[in-house]
Amino acid sequence: AMEAIGFRIQAFASGQGDKTAIIDEKGALSWAGLLHEVNRIANRLRQAGLKKGDCVAALSENSREMVALYLGTLVAGGCMVPLSGMASGESLALMIRDCGSRFLFVSRKNLDIWAEASLRAGLNHDEVIGLDNDAAGQHLKDWLGSIPAEPDPAPVTLNDPFNIIYSSGTTGTPKGILHDYRFRQRQMVRMSRFGLNGEAVNLVSTPMYSNTTLVSVLPTIFYGGTLVLMARFDARRFLELAEQHKVTHAMLVPVQFERILAVPDFDQFDLSSFKLKLCTSAPLRAHVIAETMKRWPGNIREVYGLTEGGISTSLDCAAYPDKWDTVGLPTEGAEVRVVSEDGKELPQGEIGEIVGRAISMMRGYVNRPEQTREMLWQSPDGLAFYRSGDMGRIDEDGFVHILDRRKDMIISGGFNIYAVDLEKVVLSHPAVSDAAVIGIPSSQWGETPLALVVKKSGCQETEEEIRDWANQHLGKTQRLSAVEFRQELPRSTIGKVLKRELRTPYWDNSA
Ligand code: ATP
Repeated sequence: AMEAIGFRIQAFASGQGDKTAIIDEKGALSWAGLLHEVNRIANRLRQAGLKKGDCVAALSENSREMVALYLGTLVAGGCMVPLSGMASGESLALMIRDCGSRFLFVSRKNLDIWAEASLRAGLNHDEVIGLDNDAAGQHLKDWLGSIPAEPDPAPVTLNDPFNIIYSSGTTGTPKGILHDYRFRQRQMVRMSRFGLNGEAVNLVSTPMYSNTTLVSVLPTIFYGGTLVLMARFDARRFLELAEQHKVTHAMLVPVQFERILAVPDFDQFDLSSFKLKLCTSAPLRAHVIAETMKRWPGNIREVYGLTEGGISTSLDCAAYPDKWDTVGLPTEGAEVRVVSEDGKELPQGEIGEIVGRAISMMRGYVNRPEQTREMLWQSPDGLAFYRSGDMGRIDEDGFVHILDRRKDMIISGGFNIYAVDLEKVVLSHPAVSDAAVIGIPSSQWGETPLALVVKKSGCQETEEEIRDWANQHLGKTQRLSAVEFRQELPRSTIGKVLKRELRTPYWDNSA
C-alpha cells in the first residue's frame, strides 16, 4: 500500500487551522501557522537541491522550528537526522559524514559544538543554517526568504527513509538506525491506541533526537494533537505547564518521575487532566510507580524497547499492580523469547538474552550491513529475532523481566550478578538517594561488584555502614566489595546512568 504521509500532515490545514499545534517558550502556534512554515521549509529544501531520500541533519533543543524542520524535511521527501547536543564535535562530524547530509540546521545554544563539527565534517559555511535568529551563519528566516507556502508534498512509499537516529552511545560508537515510513506508521498506530492522537495534549520534556521522545511526539503530530515543548527539563516548570495547558500525556524517563514527585509543592498542582504517563529507557522502580499512582492522576504505562525496534513490551500499571517489577507483556504482534550465550532457546523462566520480533523494525544500521546481521537471531522455526543485548527472563504469566544489559552484567567467581538486584537493595537504604552497581577487577573473583552511591543530604552514614547493611540483605554470591560515595551519577541526556563511564577508571584499556 502506498501511503503518502506528507499528505496526511497537509490534511490538518483544512480541518483545524485554528487549533493549537505547538506551545513553546514563544507561545502558541496554530496548525495553520505550523503548516505554513512546514511547506516553506519543504519548498526551500527542494529549491536548494534536496532529492528524495537525502538527509537533513539538525542539532537543536525542542522548539517549534525543530518540529517544522522535521515535518518540512518529510514533506520535501527527505530523511531527518536529529543529532544530540551532548555528543562531541568529533562524533557529530562522524554522524554527518556517515549519513551524508548536506544540510545542517543548528540552534544558537549548540553553535560552539557545531563549529567544530562542521569544520571536521568538511561542510561549507552556507550549508549551516541557524534555526533561531541569533545563530551565526544563515538564519532560517533569511534562508527561507520569500519562498511560497504552496503545499507540494513529495510522494513517498512505506519503504522510503523517514529518519536516522544515532544510538546514544551508552555502549560505544554511535550507529545510525534507519527507520522507514512503515516503521513509523505502525508505531504511530500503536501509540494512538494509548491516546496519543488528535485529542492529546502531550508535554514533551526529553530531547527530540531520542527515539524515546519521537515515539510520543510523532503520533501526537500526525493525528493532529497538541505538543507542549520544553527546551530543557525542569521538574517544577513541568508541573506548571501541565496544569496550565491541561496536559493529558507525557513520555518520561524514570529519573524524571523521581524529580517531579520530589517537588516540594507537588500536591498543590492540579494534574487532573492527565490520562497517561508513559515511561521508557530504563527500569522504573516499583516504589516510584506506587508513589506516582497514589499522588498523580491518570495511569502509567511502562514501555520496553530498543530504537532498533523489533522488540517491544508494555506494562499497564493500573491493570497489573503485582507486576510492577516487570516491563509487561509483548505488544500486539510482538513476540519475545530468551536465548543462551550460544544462541539456544531457553525454557520459560530461565535467564538469558532477550530476543524479540515485532511488526515494526528498523531497516538497518546505516553503512553497517555486518552489524545489522549480527543483531539478528534465527529461531529454529526459521524466524528472525532481534538481539536486545539485555539479560532477562519471562515469568509464568508471560511477563518480561529485564535484569541488566549483557555488557553491564558482573561475572564474579563464575556467578552472574545482575546490577539491578543489587541496586534495588542499596536504594532501599533510607540514606541513599541514587545508586549504580558496576563490576570492577578482582584478582580473586575476576570481577566484583562495587556500588557508587549518592547520599541524601544530611545523612551521616559511612561507606562501610551502607555496604555492610546492603550485604546483610544480599545473597552470598552477590555481596558488594565496597561502597563509594559520589556527588552525582553521570547520566545521558535521557537519564540513563552511563555505566561505561563509571567503569572505565577501574579497568585498564577497558571497554
Ligand atoms: P546504546 O545502545 O548506545 O546504549 P541507547 O541506550 O540510547 O543506546 P536505546 O535503543 O534508546 O539505546 O535503548 C534501549 C535499551 O534501553 C534497552 O536495550 C534496555 O537496556 C533499555 N530499556 C529500554 N526500556 C526499558 C525499560 N522499560 N526497562 C528497563 N530497561 C529499558
